[in-house]
Amino acid sequence: MASLFKSSPLSLKDTFSPGPFEERKGLLSGIDTLSTSETDESKQTPLYDRSTSLSFCRAGIILSVCGFFGLAFGVFYWLSAPPSSAKALHFDGEILRSNGTHGADYLDRGLTPHLLDISKEGLRAKFMKPIFPTLTFPNHWALMTGLYAESHGIIANNFWDAETDSEFHYSNISSCWQPHWWYGEPMWETAGKAGLITANLMWPGPPQMSSGATPTYFVPWANKVSLNTKLAQILKWIDLPLDERPQLILAYEPSLDQAGHATGPYSQEDTLKYVDTFAKDLRNSLVARNLTEIVDVIFVSDHGMTDTSHPELVYIDDVLGEEGWRAVKHEDGWPSMGLHFDPSANSSHYLERLLAAAAENSEKFSVHTPETMPERYHFAHSTRIAPVYVIPKIGYVLTNRKEGDVGLSKGNHGYDNNDPTMNAIFVAHGPFSTVAKAVHYSQSTSPRPRWLLNPNNGWYSASDDTYVMEGFENIEIYNLIMKLLDIQSQAAKTNGTIGFWDRYL
Ligand SMILES: [Zn+2]
Repeated sequence: MASLFKSSPLSLKDTFSPGPFEERKGLLSGIDTLSTSETDESKQTPLYDRSTSLSFCRAGIILSVCGFFGLAFGVFYWLSAPPSSAKALHFDGEILRSNGTHGADYLDRGLTPHLLDISKEGLRAKFMKPIFPTLTFPNHWALMTGLYAESHGIIANNFWDAETDSEFHYSNISSCWQPHWWYGEPMWETAGKAGLITANLMWPGPPQMSSGATPTYFVPWANKVSLNTKLAQILKWIDLPLDERPQLILAYEPSLDQAGHATGPYSQEDTLKYVDTFAKDLRNSLVARNLTEIVDVIFVSDHGMTDTSHPELVYIDDVLGEEGWRAVKHEDGWPSMGLHFDPSANSSHYLERLLAAAAENSEKFSVHTPETMPERYHFAHSTRIAPVYVIPKIGYVLTNRKEGDVGLSKGNHGYDNNDPTMNAIFVAHGPFSTVAKAVHYSQSTSPRPRWLLNPNNGWYSASDDTYVMEGFENIEIYNLIMKLLDIQSQAAKTNGTIGFWDRYL
């Protein structure tokens, strides 16, 4: 693998070592955190003329912290004339409302003072909505491609593909890194096509696409790599000579997800502080290099986490009967159960059983075929999706008599992406946030009658010291990065909303 890429300072020896644990055990060992407001059609005069103020786009950093801070990623972008500091803005228009954000409220727990400060200097979203299923691989790939799971192909962390008679399993690198699994165009591929240098530090996904595209720099997944080591790698990239320096850096950190599974969503204090320290150190490192006004840093997560310490078990083998359970050949998508029955089995009979049980227990679980899947899941139009999908409600765990509650984690995700506990975070700092605030300021002081404007135009609250964007879907992130890197004209098609970022930039 190393020969494919420019050399990486991190050891490639200890590359992807599939952990001995399934996510079910609460220790996903590593590859593994809507109310989108209406688009305001009113066109505003941009505060900065990008064609003149953006002399050239050079780079960015995106960091993902799995679980609550699933991912952090950053984009560097270089301005010839840095915009005036947001602190110079005098905002007096909007009402500051509560910042309570349900599943994305980790910043308000008092355990991440530096991230909170960073979000105040920059901005954050009330929440970022993950795609369904709210699992690590599907969401990291949605962040990369701007696509829902049915379109980007990674429909779960583990699934059986009936067409090729083969299994995708996130921890089986020989299988899951094969490019044919991964549809869509990840942002690093688009950036590479546009001539930019890219770096991928353990972001879940393949090292190479079917097109042959690879990130310029690639550090494969390894468990238990400290955030200090990751920071050192990021800084090493940042300190490279200009013609070797990545303009897009993607980095992934699993510790919060692992802690959330192990101890539940309300008891990972140490890990939150650990991640917070990393955020502070990264920030200080950029300050020391005088880069804060030319580098965008974006912290995101892939999904949230719900307490599963006292779940009610639902025995699917009881519903199907012994024979029906035996006819299940493959089980996809924990904590859901995507069921593939043996072709010789009377699967419609078993589906009827499941549907009858779901009708009697609608508070516990639902049962769908691709034809009856809720449209808002965007989880039907793929031959990879199992013909029968059993989806648990929050508080319930699907299992069978043999497995019972053995190995269940105290926290989990994968549930309905409308549930607030599944929400992810979005925190941004750098030129993007400065410009977004400035655009908002220019709108709020517009001479046009207020009723002609969307009162908040994409902001949940906006004041001098706290800018909180309305919640938005993570499939919009791809287009944000395209915009920040100034390569929108080369962007691939996504499920994102055209013009979504126009109100901010
Ligand atoms: Zn997880």
